[in-house]
Formats: sequence, structure tokens, C-alpha cells
Amino acid sequence: MNKKTVLITGSSRGIGRATAILFAKNNYNVVINYNKSEKEANELYNTLTEKGLSVRVFKADISKRYEVNSMVNFCIGEFGKIDVLVNNAGISTDKLFTDLSDEDWDEMMNVNLNGVFYSTQKALQYMIPEHSGKIINISSIWGLVGGSYEVHYSTSKAAIIGMTKALAKELGPSNIQVNCVAPGVIQTDMLNNVSQEILDMLRDETPLMRLGTPDDIANCILFLADDKSNFITGQVISPNGGFVI
Ligand code: NAP
Repeated sequence: MNKKTVLITGSSRGIGRATAILFAKNNYNVVINYNKSEKEANELYNTLTEKGLSVRVFKADISKRYEVNSMVNFCIGEFGKIDVLVNNAGISTDKLFTDLSDEDWDEMMNVNLNGVFYSTQKALQYMIPEHSGKIINISSIWGLVGGSYEVHYSTSKAAIIGMTKALAKELGPSNIQVNCVAPGVIQTDMLNNVSQEILDMLRDETPLMRLGTPDDIANCILFLADDKSNFITGQVISPNGGFVI
């Protein structure tokens, strides 16, 4: 069978990294994207290629349109197509809304929202003529319910949900499914600045009594990329251990 190709933004670390590993093991061609973590991205690339898996690695800052265009063109040059785009790369910072500077706001929107805009627009240039494709956007529970000290982050993640729903309507006739994964609290570097006390509190408030792992999210993304989910579009799936119901 013809291998499918996936491009995963921000796959040097965390959820993106786990997703790259899972897709590669499930017989996808995988383009790993990184921005700052060159060492981690190359280590991942080497580990997967040593296992005979089909991966490539590409540096691009997704907040810059020309770098995103180069990344998608690289994917097409290497594999001839892009079947699945996972818009995963993201940043988070904690700050009171009243303390946010224009720079704080712009940086958050440039990466978390404009990066999704640029990547999706460029990928669609190849998906629409094929009348086929899957776009999976990574939002957050904070985009669903709002998080204090994270108004800028929550805003960017809520916008992704709106974009997912509107795009799903626009792209349905082109047979392109657009869905959103809104993870709960997942153990990655993104939690490095969260105190153990807060993490314990979050775990205690989670019905399943644990925090999530990158694999919990990767499995959900793999399902949304698969033909088994072909009738699902415009939906938000939130793997969060029951933290938000
Ligand atoms: P992470 O461990 O901090 O990893 C973030 C990834 O995004 C890294 O690979 C990083 O690459 C990449 N990235 C950041 N800025 C980038 C840019 N400008 N261009 C390209 N790549 C960039 O975070 P994570 O927890 O895996 O988060 C992944 C996604 O899940 C994010 O969208 C996040 O908002 C969302 N999420 C996370 C949680 C959680 O609790 N962890 C919960 C809900 C949603 P480099 O290091 O190479 O720059």
C-alpha cells in the first residue's frame, strides 16, 4: 500500500515527538519539524532511521511564513505529497493579563495561531487538488474553559478551535477532514515552570487520578489521521483524564 506522509510541527520534544515516533512505527513517512531543539530533533531522526523507519527532519520557525513554505515544500520534495498535517508546535507562558505587553501577546499569536494559519494554508495547496487530506490542530483544555494567568495562551487555543470548525465546513466538499485535539495536563517540558504542589493539585482534581502522557495524545492524533475516522470532521476531542467534562 502507498505510504501516507505526515508533517508534524514542533516534533523535537513532548507531544510532537511522541506523535512522530508513533506515526513512524505505523508506517507513515514522517517529517519532524523543530525550531530551537536541533540536538533533540537530530537524535530523534537518528533513532528512527536506525530502525529503518521513513523520517526526515526540517528546521523552521512556524511563526515565519517563508520558513513554513520551505518546510512544506521540503515535505513534497522528499515524499511527493502531504496526507496529514499535525499543527502541534506551541508555546505557553504564565502572566497576569494586566501585565501582558504587546510583545507577549504578539509572540503568543505569532507562534500558536499564525503558525497554524501559515502551515495549513501551504499544506492545502497540495491537499485540495488531491481531494484528500487530514488536518489535526492541537489546542488545549484552556482553549475550552479558559485559564487564569494564561489569557493570551487560552485565547490562541480557543481561536484554533474556531478555525477548526470553520475550516471543516469550508473543506468538507474537498474531502479534507479538520479536527482538533485539546489535551489536558500532559507531562512535557511545558510543565517545567509549574510547581509540584500545583501539579499534585491538578492530578487530584483529575477523575482518572493521573496526569496525561505524550502517548495519550499521540494515540488520539493517530486515530484522527486514520481512515477509520473519515466521517469525523470539525470536532474537538479532549483527552484530559476527565479533568474537563
Ligand atoms: P513542549 O514539550 O514545550 O514542546 C513544544 C514543541 O513546539 C517543541 O518541539 C518546540 O520545538 C516546538 N515549537 C515551539 N515554538 C516553535 C516555533 N516557533 N516553530 C517551530 N516549532 C516550535 O510542549 P508540548 O507540551 O509537547 O506541547 C505541544 C502542543 O500541545 C502545544 O501546542 C501545546 O500548547 C499543546 N498542549 C500542551 C499541554 C501540556 O500540558 N503539555 C496541554 C494542552 C495543550 P523547539 O524546541 O525545537 O523550538
